[in-house]
Amino acid sequence: MKIVMIGNPVLRKKARTVHKVTSELVEFADSMEALMHPTGVGLAAPQVGRSEAFFIYDVGDGLRLVINPQILERKGAASGEEGCLSVPGVWAPIERATEITLSFLDRSGHRRVRKYADFEARVIQHEYDHLQGVLFVDRITDAATISVQEDSPVAEALAQTVETRERQL
Ligand SMILES: [Zn+2]
Repeated sequence: MKIVMIGNPVLRKKARTVHKVTSELVEFADSMEALMHPTGVGLAAPQVGRSEAFFIYDVGDGLRLVINPQILERKGAASGEEGCLSVPGVWAPIERATEITLSFLDRSGHRRVRKYADFEARVIQHEYDHLQGVLFVDRITDAATISVQEDSPVAEALAQTVETRERQL
């Protein structure tokens, strides 16, 4: 298992709904955790080439698995710096809702509805986007705010993404 980078079409597909939460899926999701450390706080299944609607994250109080998420409500807005394991060496401030209500299946396959705020809400919105085929760089509103590390392996793919989007505006 390895992380796929911007430019790979799997990152642009809408992920399939999970029809059954199997032990295989839960074990797979848990094994994604190793790829998330030490720099990532979240990882969505399409980022390891599996186009199914689930992601993991850990904001410091343990690993969470979120399956078939739906954002029922968004409140507030704040800008915060984001990066992505599939877009290494790139950071930009992204505006996100500060509070969300999320419906999802947990690792036991039970439907949960919970509210999240601030950083955790940001991480969930970022990972949720991955399941829609959306990358954080698509949400950059001012190209001047992007920080790109000189040796970033994805600088070229990023430039293409930003250029394509500017043509669409
Ligand atoms: Zn990401």
